[in-house]
Amino acid sequence: MKLILLGAPGAGKGSQAVKLTTTLNVPHISTGDAFRMNIKNGTEIGIYAKSFMDKGLLVPDEVTIKIVESRLQQPDCEKGFMLDGFPRSIPQAEALDKITDIDFVINIDVDLAVILKRLTGRLSCGCGAIFHKSTYSESACDKCGGTLFTRDDDKEETILKRLDAYKQTTEPLIDYYKSKGKLFNARGNGSIDECFEQILSILKK
Ligand code: AMP
Repeated sequence: MKLILLGAPGAGKGSQAVKLTTTLNVPHISTGDAFRMNIKNGTEIGIYAKSFMDKGLLVPDEVTIKIVESRLQQPDCEKGFMLDGFPRSIPQAEALDKITDIDFVINIDVDLAVILKRLTGRLSCGCGAIFHKSTYSESACDKCGGTLFTRDDDKEETILKRLDAYKQTTEPLIDYYKSKGKLFNARGNGSIDECFEQILSILKK
């Protein structure tokens, strides 16, 4: 199964991806994670990507497309994959169409007020788990024991710029995939499990 998770920053794409990758047994490909890994390892791509990410801007298409293109050539993607955070622009979607055919695009739809609350209190773990300061007071992840951190781009000022980039550049993908008959909406205002159940029932159809 070839799947795309679409949605604004904070919609819950990462949380759903962690659950879906196990259930569907396909690799989870997150361009955000790929950039953060490059930043951690101090690579040229990482240094370049960070200069955009820290400002709440999208990393230019050319670099992002190359990363996904080479990842999709890995043997573990032959049986399918789940893209989280890619594509984020029409040129990225067009490039992806040239590489492969996608089966489902799940758009996780969340109200702006919920998104703002989630992102401003978000605590992340390297294993992909996500917590919120209002409901979690530990400094370690309860899934893997890793130390929790606030992402550099989860500062309030940067969050607003990321949401703007989403509106301008990523949201048009909803119509792009709707016109191809591939778009399915899941409401993401509620709990992770509620959203997960909706996605599973979409995929069963
Ligand atoms: P994420 O972890 O998906 O929220 O991504 C974090 C940041 O990485 C984004 O705000 C962008 O700066 C960058 N990024 C991730 N995926 C893409 C993409 N497909 N295109 C451009 N920039 C991206």
